[in-house]
Amino acid sequence: MRKHRKKEDIVSWEENVRKVVPYVAGEQPNKPGMIKLNTNECPYPPAPGVERLAAKMDCGAFRLYPDPDAAVLVDALAKYYHVKPEQVFVGVGSDDVLSMAFMTFFNGSKPILFPDVTYSFYDVWADLHRIPCRTCPLDEDWHIRPEDYRQPNGGVVFPNPNAPTGLLESLDTVEEILRANRDVVVIVDEAYVDFGGKSALPLVERYDNLLIVQTFSKSRAMAGLRIGFCIGSEKLIGYLNDVKFSFNSYTMNLPSQILGAEAVRDDAYFRAATAKIVATRERVKGELRELGFSFPDSKANFIFASHEVIPARQIFQALREADIYVRYWNKPRISEFLRITIGTDEQMDRLISFLKDYAKRYW
Ligand code: PMP
Repeated sequence: MRKHRKKEDIVSWEENVRKVVPYVAGEQPNKPGMIKLNTNECPYPPAPGVERLAAKMDCGAFRLYPDPDAAVLVDALAKYYHVKPEQVFVGVGSDDVLSMAFMTFFNGSKPILFPDVTYSFYDVWADLHRIPCRTCPLDEDWHIRPEDYRQPNGGVVFPNPNAPTGLLESLDTVEEILRANRDVVVIVDEAYVDFGGKSALPLVERYDNLLIVQTFSKSRAMAGLRIGFCIGSEKLIGYLNDVKFSFNSYTMNLPSQILGAEAVRDDAYFRAATAKIVATRERVKGELRELGFSFPDSKANFIFASHEVIPARQIFQALREADIYVRYWNKPRISEFLRITIGTDEQMDRLISFLKDYAKRYW
């Protein structure tokens, strides 16, 4: 674990250091038999073609730098989403794409806006890139209030579905926010859109300031390869590329480019895997409800659940001791919730059976 320095320990050269409070990623334990439901990874393997291609990869090709334009992946995505390759930008996970987008588009003096309960990396990037920011409280049902986004601002970013709530906003809400913000860039982070959400992609044609960000880490089962991408107007993507090529030309390694493109080509597998996760999610919702949990109606590959009697932190600890990992934040508004990733049916059965036994002790 990294230690933070105390002010009195700072020596002269440290005055010039960019000091930031880093994002805390979910832990990545590797214990035999554990059930890992804490970082919203896919419980199923990537498309079979990915494994075939990986097995016959030419390691001699690793001598050379990869294509800085990642054309094979950009072209596969452009074809899949029916846009021009000039409208697609790829990066090392959507975290890389988002951080690059913050650096590129949020350079005004007015604060950027995002929800108070949301992906906790946004305020870290704002701090890292020295971008002023302001949060807009979600309503009591965890929904975005579009009227909050009518105040003067330097840009807007929100996930849809939101994380960690899993709640989806309608395209009408997204468009209402866009209409009120024609003079800044609006980023819609669609990391979880493939589990029943509706992408704002069709709005890209009408709003040249809209950037849609997606990832291969969840619905395409490739978190380990770190592939993210975004789609927007040619103008937006052009500016992003200018910054990327001023920062690091070779962000995407060769295997990620080749294997990512292969994953996009196998649409049938993608659809089957995401449908399976959605079916498991809907079943688990019913079972959690019976056990006294309540939650926003998730359209993502996780459920953000709170128990009517047992404190979330206590359940989190008990699960952890049983090698079942979920995510817990001791933060305002959400300290009574657990974010539970949807795993395989068998994994969820084990979770539910543990919770059943655990809850019995309290009722
Ligand atoms: N956006 C949201 C809302 C997320 O939850 C995550 C996952 N932590 C990401 C972006 C980043 O995912 P990745 O970098 O793996 O693409």
